[in-house]
Amino acid sequence: MRHLWAHCLLLLLLVSQGQGVKALPTAHLNQSCRLTAAETATEPACSAELNLRHIQLLKRYMRPELDACQDFYAYACGNWRSVHKMGESAMSLSGARIDQRYVELFERLLHVPRSTEHSLPLYGKLLRYYHSCRALGKPRLRRYLEQLPHIGGNHWADLLAVLGRYGYHEHYVKIEVSQHNASQHMIVVMPHNYYLNLSLSGSIYNALRRHTHGQLPSLKQLSEQFKQLEQTLQEMAQPPNGSSDEETVSTYTLEQLQQELPDLNWTHVLHLQLGAIYPGSYQLLADDLPALRQLISYLNRADARLLQLYSWARFLQHLMQLPHNPLSNPQPSFSAGSATSCVQHMRKTLYLAMNFAYERNYYGKQRQADEHVIFGVFAELKQQFAQQLRLNVLGLNATLLDALLDKVQGLRINVGNLPRNVSDQFYEECVQHWRVGNDFYENHLNSLLHYYDHLAELERTEDAAMRQVWFSFNHHGPELLDNIDATPYFYCLGSIIIMPYAYMQLPLYESQFWPALLYGDLANTLGHEMLHSIDTYFVDYDAQGEMRDYSDQLVLNKNYLKAVNCLNDSEHVMLNERIADISGTRLALNTYMKDPLERRHNGRLYFVQFAQFFCGEEADIYHDTGSKRLNYALAQMPEFAEVFNCAPGTPMNPVSRCSFW
Ligand SMILES: [Zn+2]
Repeated sequence: MRHLWAHCLLLLLLVSQGQGVKALPTAHLNQSCRLTAAETATEPACSAELNLRHIQLLKRYMRPELDACQDFYAYACGNWRSVHKMGESAMSLSGARIDQRYVELFERLLHVPRSTEHSLPLYGKLLRYYHSCRALGKPRLRRYLEQLPHIGGNHWADLLAVLGRYGYHEHYVKIEVSQHNASQHMIVVMPHNYYLNLSLSGSIYNALRRHTHGQLPSLKQLSEQFKQLEQTLQEMAQPPNGSSDEETVSTYTLEQLQQELPDLNWTHVLHLQLGAIYPGSYQLLADDLPALRQLISYLNRADARLLQLYSWARFLQHLMQLPHNPLSNPQPSFSAGSATSCVQHMRKTLYLAMNFAYERNYYGKQRQADEHVIFGVFAELKQQFAQQLRLNVLGLNATLLDALLDKVQGLRINVGNLPRNVSDQFYEECVQHWRVGNDFYENHLNSLLHYYDHLAELERTEDAAMRQVWFSFNHHGPELLDNIDATPYFYCLGSIIIMPYAYMQLPLYESQFWPALLYGDLANTLGHEMLHSIDTYFVDYDAQGEMRDYSDQLVLNKNYLKAVNCLNDSEHVMLNERIADISGTRLALNTYMKDPLERRHNGRLYFVQFAQFFCGEEADIYHDTGSKRLNYALAQMPEFAEVFNCAPGTPMNPVSRCSFW
């Protein structure tokens, strides 16, 4: 749940004055600034006022009476919960502030018809979309089905291809356009995804019943029929025991595919879904031809009506499960069309247009200063990272080491996730064929259509300029789980780090921060994401996003295995986050805090600022709780123990440590 950030400066100063003055001594802080006066909005650059105000905020979250060497999280974040609600973290508060800015923007545009934004079609479309979402009443799922284009006949593959236009392709036979490496998309054909099932809800059943004018078995009977169908499909799609790890994806020409799987007209199906006639020599990827052959043969003989109903039901379920569909918003504080739920839905569904509006109305003013600072810190980290790798403490062979160095040198960064250096015309052309009317259901489907049409075009285009722009950032799709705009992340196929708008504001970042504050979070966050590029999973992608066998080589290295095992005391899925935390923190410290004098005067502030990202962070399927992550990472750093005078053997200064990259 998201809540508005509400802090009162006056209150904040009063509260923090009573706290221990020594918690964060400011007398000898390094006050150097990466920006010149010309690059900032304030005089002087990196004003003491801005930095001291932020330090007061940090003190507000601290409990300096506690022992930092016992539990640094309790020391640095101990008061967080008394200030913020359950579930709130610095990142979630930041995301909520961005949602609020969008709401303000749209509400202003709705009420001020003479605003300059109205002259750009992009804003008009966003506004109509917002309005149609705000007007939503009770969910009427059959409206989605009514929007589907009419297709002659009742062949399962035709309906499937039509649903594929909207990005849905999980059952029967999957045809998907997906990103293949840093500069290429490909068409992929796969058997029925038996990991996903239909759970036929009352609302989906009612939508089907209305759509078929009541010509439907009972809910119970239909559920039973669907279950049997799923069972049969799973038996055909699931590989026999023991062979599920085998690599079965291969490249085929369309002609070869047609010969191998003659029971489906592939040219016709691809045309229907992707809007183009592909030549016989066209190359695509296909997985498990025997399973596909069996599935197609079965589906061609099965009850066409049942297959159609199942497709509709799965499509509706998919739409309802798309992240931030306001119709399925589980948060009781939102009504279906609340301003915030509409904005969150639009941020996900209308990715490029929404980011453009944010850039133009809010972020654009600070971009230049931010890029100057962030690119500078990123370059320092990269250089340090390469230097550390060259020491080759794990004793890797020269070829592998060179490949990893290449990868590190090739890492890119994108602030805010729009392509860089494109004109307004680029965005005008992007939204030209995007249709928006007054009906939410129609708008939602048309937006999906617009996004997936674009992917299909990107896959087949030979326009080098177009490819270059579109592969310069991560134009992520509406189905990507979690609100990924909410946190920095490493995108392995593009070998690119995305720093979302939500990161680019207080309390995590400000271009005018003094070094301890700036590096305290930014260098650690960048370090963390950079280390993901060589964590145990992503290490296999090279600088161009191609899959390699680097981890096969690494597991033959005893030092590497020892390092992994040292960190791996929790769920395997957490391991890579732990690697990124620890090695990223090490990288940041090596970059900024090598000088003992710098540590003495700036160390405390640096570590307390580092803690901000973790205050209030709860565990999820990939991450430990913020407290566990923070304490674990810093206990691994002797510099932390030095700065806080931790006696050997205390929790934050353990006798033995793990070391990795
Ligand atoms: Zn991570």
